[in-house]
Amino acid sequence: MSKINLDDIRFIYDDPKEYSITIDDDYFQNDSEIRNRRLRLSTQGLKISKELFPSIYKITEKINEKLNLEEEITYFIEPNSFHNAYCLPISSKESAVVINSGLVELLNDQEMEFIIGHEIGHHLFSHKNYPKVTIDGSENIGLKRLSQAAEISVDRMGLYCNNNLDACINCMMKIASGLKPPNINFDHKTFINQLKNIVDLKGDRSQIYSTHPMIFVRAKALIIYSESEPYQQSINLFKQFKHTKKEMDNYVNDLISQSEGYAYDEEQTEEFNSIKMWAEVKLMISNNSWTSSEKKILEKSIGINHLNKIDDIIKLSNQAGLNPVNEINKKWENIKNSSLTKSKKEKLISELEILSKELIVMCNHKQENLIESLSKISNDLGINKTIHINL
Ligand SMILES: [Zn+2]
Repeated sequence: MSKINLDDIRFIYDDPKEYSITIDDDYFQNDSEIRNRRLRLSTQGLKISKELFPSIYKITEKINEKLNLEEEITYFIEPNSFHNAYCLPISSKESAVVINSGLVELLNDQEMEFIIGHEIGHHLFSHKNYPKVTIDGSENIGLKRLSQAAEISVDRMGLYCNNNLDACINCMMKIASGLKPPNINFDHKTFINQLKNIVDLKGDRSQIYSTHPMIFVRAKALIIYSESEPYQQSINLFKQFKHTKKEMDNYVNDLISQSEGYAYDEEQTEEFNSIKMWAEVKLMISNNSWTSSEKKILEKSIGINHLNKIDDIIKLSNQAGLNPVNEINKKWENIKNSSLTKSKKEKLISELEILSKELIVMCNHKQENLIESLSKISNDLGINKTIHINL
């Protein structure tokens, strides 16, 4: 059996680097912590065995075999009516998958395969190494977006495990409603159409503080995955796919943004523009001059009002006998630690390379000086890139 390629499944935005989030490379717990977790699991729940829970045990065996898992996962049932399951690391290499009894009563075997595949996905993608998200909305929304992206990856793992899209969507509908037939009809189209109402209402901006994407987004994202090149290849269908991996990932990322009324994207754009402005000014005055041709270029980029603000800062520091370069650097120091995504930062650096070329051609800047200044800016933003200014 060929080994599973996790990168074919992982949503490309499920990547801490994208959100400038540093993670511990490996999860570490000392022996007493491991013992405590195992003890807690064993006292609060029952370990899934062939003897106690034969039908769920069969599902776990099937998935272990499909994913080539050896002793990495221990499965537990916990008595809890809340329709939930979770994956808990119990050592650097092992996880426990815990399924609430309420979920067992709600789902059939194939739906349970989806849930178990989803939870094992958290283990295989090492999501345990990600920083913990808290419920209140005050902290890093990049971290929340990462958490949402992680859910997209593991939903795909769920489908990869059960190979049954209908069962996956049915499972989502059951969990979203708490009901099973005959009290619910599995009309997937009507279910997912509810997303249209949300988008028509310009999205739910509070979703940026949520750890999971909306259920309708997750369902739609899974349908897209089922039609994608990597999934079709995994079931030995070739050349019938509707989307490449990249097309799928971009589509899904936009779907999440849309459901959130583009609130996250707007914050990113605002931050991008602000960082870009100060970086442009830094480059312009890096040769200790502030000329009318530089002002013209800056006005084109940021508009007259912002230009006037910058111009005032430079004028006032000159009047006060201060070096404007230092004053601008102080502003830069305050904003350089941003939550701008890695792809946005890379885009910014490319735009600054183009600006640098203009400064050399139009404003007598020296190429080597600009390369040095731009390298520093890139470094400050945590982007490891060799600067090229092509004349
Ligand atoms: Zn999850």
